[in-house]
Amino acid sequence: MNPTKWVYACSSCGKLFPLEKGRYLCPECGPKSIPARPLEGILEAVWEGEAPTGRVPLPVEAKWFPPLAVGNTPLRAAPRLAAELGVPALYLKDDGAEPSGSFKDRASALVAAFARREGIGEIVLASTGNAASSMSCMGAAAGLAVTVFVPAKAPVAKRVQVLQYGATMIPVDGSYDLAYEKSLEYSLDPVRAPRVMSRNTAYNPLTIEGKKTVAFELLEELELAESFGAGKKAAGARLHVFVPTGDGAILCGVYKGFEDLVRLGRLDRVPTIWACQADGSSAIFRALRDGGFGESVPSDTVADSIAVDAPRAGILALKKLQHHAGRALALPDSEILAAQRLASSRAGVFMEPSSAAAMAAFIRVAKDLPPDALPVVLATGSGLKDVRSAARAVGLGAD
Ligand SMILES: *Cc1c(COP(=O)(O)O)cnc(C)c1O
Ligand SMILES: [Zn+2]
Repeated sequence: MNPTKWVYACSSCGKLFPLEKGRYLCPECGPKSIPARPLEGILEAVWEGEAPTGRVPLPVEAKWFPPLAVGNTPLRAAPRLAAELGVPALYLKDDGAEPSGSFKDRASALVAAFARREGIGEIVLASTGNAASSMSCMGAAAGLAVTVFVPAKAPVAKRVQVLQYGATMIPVDGSYDLAYEKSLEYSLDPVRAPRVMSRNTAYNPLTIEGKKTVAFELLEELELAESFGAGKKAAGARLHVFVPTGDGAILCGVYKGFEDLVRLGRLDRVPTIWACQADGSSAIFRALRDGGFGESVPSDTVADSIAVDAPRAGILALKKLQHHAGRALALPDSEILAAQRLASSRAGVFMEPSSAAAMAAFIRVAKDLPPDALPVVLATGSGLKDVRSAARAVGLGAD
């Protein structure tokens, strides 16, 4: 067999491209993208030739990663909450314990590693807040300049993080979608383009690839917790993973990780993945229900990290949900805030509202899951990231 080689594959047309600096969307499908709509032609990192060895196959060698120990976050058992909801087990994958306090560090670490290997000096991105604070954190540790475009209304904790980590913040008077356009203008400027890299979610394929690490960890950690033994490879049917979903990049990354595990022969099938959205930002839920994306709708939800008008990874997310018989739910803010408080008070895990959307989705369907189901909620961000709404929910003034 040929040695392992990493390439990019277009998720729309299947064409292969070198995994190299300056490549974002498929050159043929990408330009069909309509502004403020889900992206066409998202590339996926795949290997050719011999299967990569090691715990998690990634397209950048370990020595390039920032020295921050990203991933391997605690899988917390929540037996009190499970009993209260009448289910045998519940686990919370606590990415609030990441260096910058959110799941985004998985993607930012891979992007930073690639930038270091390729001699790129500056990373640029648009963010609702967490991607910005995360990339700023990784940039600080790795010695990379970071420029972020963030809605001026993003939660203050996330903006403080950006500045603490020493990044350049450009506040945008408008939504994430406007920040997204502005960041692309900046990174595609012909003078800057050769030495900067965009970390915009889904647009840079390494953001999805970096997020897949959680699937590898879940399989290992659940095996320790549940001792599958000889049944390990058959665990796919029992696993239900609840994923907070805005742009759909985490969803695609989780799927990619499980697809890799199946390809490597470590798992029999891709688990049931639940795309969990807010009523006020439910494009992927609606697309799965209706069989495609309609006009984008302005988002309005307390869960700022999953508030997007047009989900950037929507087309790929929908394709994966359809292919693997995934599920989707949309929850009102009231249920999201109630779920946030329940996870805090019954499991000791204080998560931000976006993560609580996944918690709320689980609470809604818990009783209908098969009796041997192993549910995992991705607690993607710390509750301390946005205390305003959480403060109100416990009867404290906002400031
Ligand atoms: C970004 C983010 C999400 C949503 O991820 P998408 O890739 O946009 O679907 C969920 N939770 C947290 C904490 C996030 O920062
Ligand atoms: Zn293509």
